[in-house]
Amino acid sequence: MAVPPASWTILATLRWTADYFRTKGVSEPRAAAEILLAHTLSVSRLDLYLRYDQPLNPEELARFKALVIRRRAGEPVAYLTGHREFWSLDIRVTPAVLIPRPETEVLVAAALEAARFYEENEAGRKGPGEDQPKTGNRKPETSSFLGLEVGVGSGAVVIALATELPRMAWVGLDTSGGALAVARDNARRQAVLDRVHFLQSDLLAALRPTAAFALLLANLPYVPRAQWERLPREIKAFEPPGALLGGEDGLDLIRSLIRQAPQYVKGGGWVLLEVGDQQAQQVTALLQQSGAYDRIESIKDFSGMERVVRARRRNAAG
Ligand code: GLN
Repeated sequence: MAVPPASWTILATLRWTADYFRTKGVSEPRAAAEILLAHTLSVSRLDLYLRYDQPLNPEELARFKALVIRRRAGEPVAYLTGHREFWSLDIRVTPAVLIPRPETEVLVAAALEAARFYEENEAGRKGPGEDQPKTGNRKPETSSFLGLEVGVGSGAVVIALATELPRMAWVGLDTSGGALAVARDNARRQAVLDRVHFLQSDLLAALRPTAAFALLLANLPYVPRAQWERLPREIKAFEPPGALLGGEDGLDLIRSLIRQAPQYVKGGGWVLLEVGDQQAQQVTALLQQSGAYDRIESIKDFSGMERVVRARRRNAAG
């Protein structure tokens, strides 16, 4: 065990804590020490190094020690600080929601691409019998279309998209009232609550089945039961199982959503699903079997894993 320093300056505290975490097998020991100390002192991580020889007062030291003990017992850093960065946004998290994962930014990027493609190719298109716009191809300034996220959790994904796509309005669904409260709070903090309507719903059950959405995306629970049993304690004991567990093979909810989604998505609109390790092929097959989709493709994350499956809702005409 590390020897306690003579004086608990910021630098000495960081060194001692990182060392302590390392010997206790806590993941990312240095980063955890920095984030928890910055949180305790209400400063940025960079500030820690600008004030490295400032000593902690006894009250700060006591609050910091309490966090160190909780982290050592497995509690995730993001629940201890109540924040996580996602898509460069500061997202509030509580134990009611899954902590946004960096790989989920791939879902956001893939959805942005799909939304832009939709806007260029479909949004201005007139329905059967309608006149061509008299102004030629110029799109109206106010062109607006709808997106839907199923299972918003903290709201990180739908909020990231709402900030990037100011002309879109969104519906965000979740079964968990606790999660919806966190998502609404995040949307308010990011100033997009006027364009995201949150609603409690078991998958799509709360919505009328009309093909209203240009985009439907979801990071549903997809962890197979046997795999969940083997997850690290910091996930299994602290994050909501309802946000992770997807039944025996992990695909229970994804299967249902693929079945329900065609009724809600416009022809030429896009469905995007985050998937787990080894699931992209099965999910591709489910989309193919449904007959309602074309242009099915998988998108890899930074570690080379097929993380998102994207498909286009076929146009009724073909
Ligand atoms: N990627 C998450 C994990 O590893 C799982 C998220 C999910 O089930 N949607 O814990």
